[in-house]
Amino acid sequence: MSTQLIDSLIREIEAKIDSTDLSPERVNSGEVISLGDGIAKVVGLREVAYNEVVEFESGARGVAMNLEENFVGVVVLSGVDTIKEGMIAKTTGRILEVPVGPGLLGRVIDPLGNPLDGLGPIVSTESYPTERVATGVMSRKWVHEPMATGIKAVDALVPVGRGQRELIIGDRQTGKTQIAIDTILNQKGQDVKCIYVAIGQKDSKVVAIAEELRRAGAMEYTTIVAAGASSPAAMQWLAPYSGCAVGEYFMLNGQHALIIYDDLTKHANAYREMALLLRRPPGREAYPGDVFYLHSRLLERSAKLNDSLGAGSMTALPIIETQGGDVSAYVPTNVISITDGQIFLESNLFNAGIKPAINVGLSVSRVGGSAQTKAMKRVAGTLKLSLAQYRELEAFSQFASDLDEDTRSALERGKRMVEILKQDVYSPVPFQKQTCIIYAGTNGYLDSVAVGDIKKFEKDLYAELEEEGTILKTILETKDLNDETKTKLNGVLENLKKMY
Ligand code: ATP
Ligand code: MG
Repeated sequence: MSTQLIDSLIREIEAKIDSTDLSPERVNSGEVISLGDGIAKVVGLREVAYNEVVEFESGARGVAMNLEENFVGVVVLSGVDTIKEGMIAKTTGRILEVPVGPGLLGRVIDPLGNPLDGLGPIVSTESYPTERVATGVMSRKWVHEPMATGIKAVDALVPVGRGQRELIIGDRQTGKTQIAIDTILNQKGQDVKCIYVAIGQKDSKVVAIAEELRRAGAMEYTTIVAAGASSPAAMQWLAPYSGCAVGEYFMLNGQHALIIYDDLTKHANAYREMALLLRRPPGREAYPGDVFYLHSRLLERSAKLNDSLGAGSMTALPIIETQGGDVSAYVPTNVISITDGQIFLESNLFNAGIKPAINVGLSVSRVGGSAQTKAMKRVAGTLKLSLAQYRELEAFSQFASDLDEDTRSALERGKRMVEILKQDVYSPVPFQKQTCIIYAGTNGYLDSVAVGDIKKFEKDLYAELEEEGTILKTILETKDLNDETKTKLNGVLENLKKMY
């Protein structure tokens, strides 16, 4: 080949290169080749990143989830019905963000931050990414402040601390959601911002919850992030991450947040649906291989930050629905291993009228004990013991006809303890009152009260204490039950006991 020819070829190639548009826009736009089940296959997005927002010509938006050799699988989040084959799609260089800040309190939003409550646009000046790497070990502090739920059985036996992740687990209709809602109600005046994330639930249920919170004055400090049962799987998958970003804003600004994920079973199912549509290989129980990571990267974002970072916290109460009480299924075991303990609810307790239906033997809180008030610690220890004793004796006494005196009294004491721990819906009890009623039970003041009268006794006791005033005030202020207060409390209890 002559040098002349080579030169001309080189010139030709150089001209070609010069005329090729290499601006980012050109490189990062592609074309939709197919659309189905909310997944758009796009070719030509050469520099797209995993989880990057992709915008379609029509204004529809999605996230790039599958990066394959010849095409990208984009999960469409909005405007799916406007997308056509052959349409241009562009990358945006951003990952998904949601509006955050105090303007979100009192609002119901979808996972993209659009209002669902008809109260006008969301007022917010800041946005946070829905995905964020959880804060590291060194930026955290141990959990040491109580996150009071107002539920006697929880605060006494499985106390939750700020920054903790405590799982609520149980079969259908065992009162899981109720525990979460009551906990939100109990945060009134506590400077804790609450986020309730509803995943795959009936819209009517979410509306009822919002109504109930509004009526109780709890919406003022609460945001609801909802992706109902009729929302696309992608929205249900996104909801907890969006809610988490809303909570992170408060945590990172030195405040306290409480987030409820109701529930992560439906979340895992939505993710499975998405993954199957994306043709990812199914693993155990047809879930994709990264279903553990799905939940761990979410729950790890809850933390108690150290003082130099403002000492904020985000407590998480994820909910898992089991089938037939099987906590050893795939998703339940995953979430159990990621959380710091679980509140285990049981259908047979619920049906026997023991509500909240907490199985106190199987429920644990691995870190909350250090956040429990001294007052509660003093009374709860004995409570645990007598309940454990009761459970053992109850099983065995069904077969024994005549019981000795000790056994009988332990059984009677246990029955009363179980009664004390029953609690109605929407009626959180502050810890100073909880301390007094549990003290009454563990110190035998209820032994002579008929089991059927315990509820009334409890009510009367609270009324007496409110009238007396100093006992509740001292417990609240010192967070302890000192000898002087104890003597006073004994007096009140002696008097009240005489009336039964
Ligand atoms: P699902 O599986 O459908 O989500 P769930 O486990 O979340 O159900 P909830 O919706 O919280 O259960 O409660 C089921 C029903 O039981 C509700 O009507 C609720 O009001 C009632 N309930 C829950 N806790 C109590 C309680 N402590 N006392 C009386 N009723 C209760
Ligand atoms: Mg529920």
